[in-house]
Amino acid sequence: MQHDRTPGFDTLSIHAGAKPDPATGARATPIYQTTSYVFEDTDHAASLFGLQAFGNIYSRITNPTAAVLEERIAALEGGTAALAVASGHAAQMIAFHALMRPGDNFIAATKLYGGSINQFGHSFQSFDWQVRWADAGDPSAFEAQIDERTRAIFIESLANPGGIFLDIEAIADVAHRHGLPLIVDNTMATPYLVKPVDHGADIVTHSLTKFIGGHGNSVGGIIVDGGTFDWSQSNAYPMLTEPRPEYGGMVLHETFGNFAFAIACRVVGLRDFGPAISPFNAFMFITGAETLPLRMQRHCDNALAVARWLKTHEKVAWVSYAGLEDDPGHALMQRYSPKGAGAVFTFGLKDGFEAGVRFVEGLELFSHLANIGDTRSLVIHPASTTHRQLSLEQQAAAGAGPDVVRLSIGIETVDDIVADLEQALQKA
Ligand SMILES: *Cc1c(COP(=O)(O)O)cnc(C)c1O
Repeated sequence: MQHDRTPGFDTLSIHAGAKPDPATGARATPIYQTTSYVFEDTDHAASLFGLQAFGNIYSRITNPTAAVLEERIAALEGGTAALAVASGHAAQMIAFHALMRPGDNFIAATKLYGGSINQFGHSFQSFDWQVRWADAGDPSAFEAQIDERTRAIFIESLANPGGIFLDIEAIADVAHRHGLPLIVDNTMATPYLVKPVDHGADIVTHSLTKFIGGHGNSVGGIIVDGGTFDWSQSNAYPMLTEPRPEYGGMVLHETFGNFAFAIACRVVGLRDFGPAISPFNAFMFITGAETLPLRMQRHCDNALAVARWLKTHEKVAWVSYAGLEDDPGHALMQRYSPKGAGAVFTFGLKDGFEAGVRFVEGLELFSHLANIGDTRSLVIHPASTTHRQLSLEQQAAAGAGPDVVRLSIGIETVDDIVADLEQALQKA
């Protein structure tokens, strides 16, 4: 890359972290499908195991294909380092493991991906990591829940499923006033639309499965260290500030400075829990990242056109999409995400549950499934699927009432997307 200028986002999407393979000249990043790496000699092995030298030992902990992905996403997010793992949920588990001790708590926004609500509310309980919920739209609600055992605040920049933008800067201010890092799940927005680190986030997580992979074919996750947080300002984060016995008493924050969090996630959490990304999936995400800017812009443009069209439709009661000028979320969208409001939004059918079922079954171009962020347009009727077991009150609180349909708009020809919705609405 040229050294006299800062590359633009589109250039970084293609080039960051990658260079022609030194052994073969291969221009695309090779899939280093190997578990282990030969040591130069026993001193080299000892320095790798002791973290005195950077290098590869075993693909549970580092892999050259994953390293390209890590460097690329760190560059796109404006972070100091990153750690790729097997899924978005693994990223969350490993990130929290570096921060939490049994009995600690963190504050999370109520508006989150459903799987994260389960992970935090149920599975994290077995580690005695306590989640406290706060209204996503009210920064003071986060502050009200903080106590001396709070270790982090967690939000989504653009919240699933309704497509709601959060006031990241206001929530970052709350976190930093209390000496806490802000973790932002940037899956739905991607760094093309929103760069949370620029707005005060200290750690960014992703499900790469969605827009960064972008083609609905691979599951993966990543943790980006923003390099912004001073772990040594208190004794709340012992993994970063106390000597690690297995690394000869090394203090990770002292040794690794502004990328110590990413190192801690790798050399403790990933090493011991083991959710490593496969080299093949890392390759798929490197390839996906190259077209991220093109795809995201088309996703946003198509979604806005579809939302505008739905809004005028006689069978549609309401449309919730922050890209619409009269949407309550539009001001936050203009502030944080001026290029577009993403691909995912919800709308309501006038005729409720039965109409929702008939509508989803009547679609032909759209696929009915539980995913977002594919090139293909996707649909789900939460009340008859993901949220079926909840009471009507719980469904309403989750934004999944009987009339609600969620769309993830793909990058097909927009007239074809609209035509499919039109014929299915006629059947509903
Ligand atoms: C899908 C998703 C996750 C979980 O990621 P997986 O890769 O499925 O484990 C987390 N957050 C958001 C916003 C998601 O959409």
